[in-house]
Amino acid sequence: MSNAAAPAGATPVVDAERITYTDGTLGVPDVPIIPFIEGDGTGPDIWRAAVRVLDAGVAAAYGGRRRIAWLEVLAGEKAQARVGTLLPEETLDQIRAHRVAIKGPLTTPVGGGFRSLNVALRQQLDLYACVRPVRHFRGVPSPCRRPGDLDIVIFRENVEDIYAGIEWPAGSDQTLALRDFLGERFGVRVREDAGLGIKPISRSGTRRLVRRAIQYALAHGRPSVTIVHKGNIMKYTEGAFRDWGYELAREEFGDRTISWQEVAERHGGTVPAGRLLIQDAIADIMFQHLLLRPREHSVLAAPNLNGDYLSDAAAGIVGGIGMAPGGNIGDGYAVFEATHGTAPKYAGQDKVNPGSVILSGVMLLEHIGWEEAGLAIVSALEDTIAAGRVTYDLARGAERDVEVVATSAFGDAIARRLAAG
Ligand code: NAP
Repeated sequence: MSNAAAPAGATPVVDAERITYTDGTLGVPDVPIIPFIEGDGTGPDIWRAAVRVLDAGVAAAYGGRRRIAWLEVLAGEKAQARVGTLLPEETLDQIRAHRVAIKGPLTTPVGGGFRSLNVALRQQLDLYACVRPVRHFRGVPSPCRRPGDLDIVIFRENVEDIYAGIEWPAGSDQTLALRDFLGERFGVRVREDAGLGIKPISRSGTRRLVRRAIQYALAHGRPSVTIVHKGNIMKYTEGAFRDWGYELAREEFGDRTISWQEVAERHGGTVPAGRLLIQDAIADIMFQHLLLRPREHSVLAAPNLNGDYLSDAAAGIVGGIGMAPGGNIGDGYAVFEATHGTAPKYAGQDKVNPGSVILSGVMLLEHIGWEEAGLAIVSALEDTIAAGRVTYDLARGAERDVEVVATSAFGDAIARRLAAG
């Protein structure tokens, strides 16, 4: 197959193949075609730097035996300009065909305008788990004294909850009709000038998310999964999320997991060896725990909105969203992405940190089983920061002398380390 779009000026890749998916397992050729969306705003800057690092990491780990054939697909402003639509069907088809993709940030206006492209992508491909590993990287300035204590992986439900997008503006026909229905049928009073949104959380949606979190924790030797919820107030959505999470753990992983209640009642407060602890925390206290008792949490499973807030708060503790990667994963499809936005005021300035998209690429490499390349990149990234060559955001708050470098120079420095071995 030869349909992989090579970077501008490069020789087209002729031996590239598609990643396959059979019986729940990815089949990854030595030269997989991987679609990428450059992104809006600072997206092109960070992607240019990141792709050099990712290619250098694969080359460092596998010599010429493996490489990635990047295939550009369009979304956002570039798609609008070239083909007149923000999310072309062709882009979704290409991601479906190739299974695994990576993207830069895409613009979403607040209030009116089009619905988020990111949300649309997640929903159309049913990428139900947003996975956000958060840990400290050597040399990154943090507002906390011991940022290294925080080492968590957040599994955030990605397609339900208020992000399902079931909401209407105040005064609209839909809102007024729903308001009447609620009043007549259930005696519920809603002000006439209110907007209305609906928050669906299902048993099936919760179970598949928590299943993924538990599978991850078991596969990576993590000690616990914390189910985060606001079930004291929203009993039949967030509270049910907790109950369904425990139920799933009991039913499908009963011989390998143990609940906090069982630990307290039958094991004197100590988790027995070989068991994964399943615990839960109310969302507001979870924010405190991130700061005060981070070592008590390892993998978090959360509904959409709580997971959203927690992910950025956790990223702040370890030094900011410039270094926070993410992946949106479903059954058979995965799209990895920089977790920050388009930072439009810096667009085209070759200034911002490409760390988030680089580390999202590391997640992609792990996802396709190329862990060696991912490890090499993380090590070169940490060494570059430790050597004091950093983008402006990592210089801010640094308690040592550092040299502020451009996006491209930061990427080059990492790629050079990888090439040097
Ligand atoms: P943002 O683009 O993430 O930028 C907020 C601030 O975060 C920036 O001003 C900058 O802070 C810092 N920042 C962001 N990216 C950085 C990077 N690579 N390196 C260093 N610092 C970085 O958030 P926003 O301004 O709220 O959103 C802008 C647009 O992006 C909106 O349209 C929003 O909807 C969209 N968005 C997209 C995604 C996505 O595609 N997944 C996610 C979030 C937001 P300082 O100026 O203080 O240095």
